Amino acid sequence: MQPYALTLDRFIDHAAKWHGATEVVTVGGGGHSGRIGYAALRDRSRRLSGAFRALGLRAGDNLGLLAWNSQAHLECWYGALGVGIVCHTLNPRLSPAHLAGMIHQAANRVLVVSADLTALAGTLVQLCPTIDHVVVLEEPGSAAVPPDYDRVTSWLHEDLLARLGAEMAWGGFDENAPAGLCFTSGTTGAPKGVTYTHRSNYLHTVHQLQADASGLTARDSVLVAVPMFHANGWGFPFSGPGVGAKLVLPGRHQDGASLARVINTEGVTVAAGVATVWLGLVDHLDRTGGETPTLRRIMLGGAAVPQALMDRLERRLGALVQTSWGMTELSPLGTTASPTAPVRRAAQSGRPPLGVDLLLTDADGAPLPEQRGQAGRLRVRGASVVERYFGQDAPAVDADGWFDTGDLAIIDADGNVSITGRAKDLIKSGGEWINPMEIEAIVGALPGVAQVAVIARADAKWGERPVLVVEVCQDAKVTDQALLDALRPRVPSWWLPDAIVRLAGMPLAATGKIDKARLRADHG
Ligand code: ADP
Repeated sequence: MQPYALTLDRFIDHAAKWHGATEVVTVGGGGHSGRIGYAALRDRSRRLSGAFRALGLRAGDNLGLLAWNSQAHLECWYGALGVGIVCHTLNPRLSPAHLAGMIHQAANRVLVVSADLTALAGTLVQLCPTIDHVVVLEEPGSAAVPPDYDRVTSWLHEDLLARLGAEMAWGGFDENAPAGLCFTSGTTGAPKGVTYTHRSNYLHTVHQLQADASGLTARDSVLVAVPMFHANGWGFPFSGPGVGAKLVLPGRHQDGASLARVINTEGVTVAAGVATVWLGLVDHLDRTGGETPTLRRIMLGGAAVPQALMDRLERRLGALVQTSWGMTELSPLGTTASPTAPVRRAAQSGRPPLGVDLLLTDADGAPLPEQRGQAGRLRVRGASVVERYFGQDAPAVDADGWFDTGDLAIIDADGNVSITGRAKDLIKSGGEWINPMEIEAIVGALPGVAQVAVIARADAKWGERPVLVVEVCQDAKVTDQALLDALRPRVPSWWLPDAIVRLAGMPLAATGKIDKARLRADHG
């Protein structure tokens, strides 16, 4: 058979050739939007390749990208990927010091930023002597001016294309070449870098497209509300063009009103993002009374979903909620609930696709003799699973090639995986473990509870004790007594939280997950 290299430029070439008029839509401010067909997007990306080369970037160099989801951002990805430049995605919600550390590690010379992030970029330019060019991506409907930084040259994306754009041939390199660099969310500790290869992302796309996973087709309109800096936007910037689905990119406009508008104007059928984003959407619809008739399915992942939230989303949106489990280190897909499964529960994240293999072990890494119905630590193996963290010599896998996720899971007789906890989140009280996720699942299922988190508080006698933090839905009355009464019959008495903290809004971490580090600092 032919040695057909599995490189990512193939996706946009395929989309341009077979779905050339299918659109990529970007949401801008003030109701503006931008749109382009895949054929035209590919032409612009090809010319951007020449511009990146003219700025001095070579195959294997990391291009820094600090940007919201947009056509311009996508063009930069493919412009870089086509000639072997590595997309190093950066999360604008991190602190400048964290970002500077990542830019330093990746030796980024060119930084691409969204127009509303030029002030942050200015701080980074001061902190990072490696940066010598900044490229500003404009938002549809508003013109930006190139910022004036000391030392570095700044460009507007359109000017860069007009002045230095030159069509380049794509591909022709090894499929094992690096394609992307992404740091983990850092929910529990310092973020670690993961390098994706062309081959690993290509195969991840094939995993993600399976019918029991994303199952996208050319008839779908996909709202990618997961940021492109969160583990490759869960792979949708590849799988969308891969099947010729329409891509809807919300820019920085992730509020309920903007999402409701774009779902209706663009006929969105499938939407992907963390639960907190969809909570904003249903809150908005409840306030204003709108509907989203085209939406068939919402893919959730990145954190556990309370059952009450899943029920509320399904009822209010008339769409199916598809849970999934993944992590940056898995590119990110680990498992998904099948959209056609007769029973789907919030706690269940479904099965792995072909190409991802799972193993439950004890805390020392020994495989559990019984892989069904017993809780263990989840290990993963596959062509889109990390082998070694960026910049580290030691492998991240054991002698048999298994990567330890640090997640605790149980697999039922049908092979459905439920994530039951995170080893690093466990609370040690009097030498015994309390699992926050079990308490969160019970409280999260109560009507009127919007969001819940359980954290450890230092305790002189027991070492650590659990504290329950809740956000209650507007107008709902949920007493402390009701919260404790729900827990009492279902957890050991010493698991009952010592304190209940009520917040009007949960603090969210950089990728939209509940920020447990903040909660620990404030209430732990
Ligand atoms: P971080 O580990 O810093 O949060 P990631 O964004 O890569 O960075 O998150 C991966 C983690 O998110 C997983 O290890 C797991 O603990 C959690 N997670 C993802 N999906 C789920 C899910 N469906 N249920 C419970 N936890 C989940």
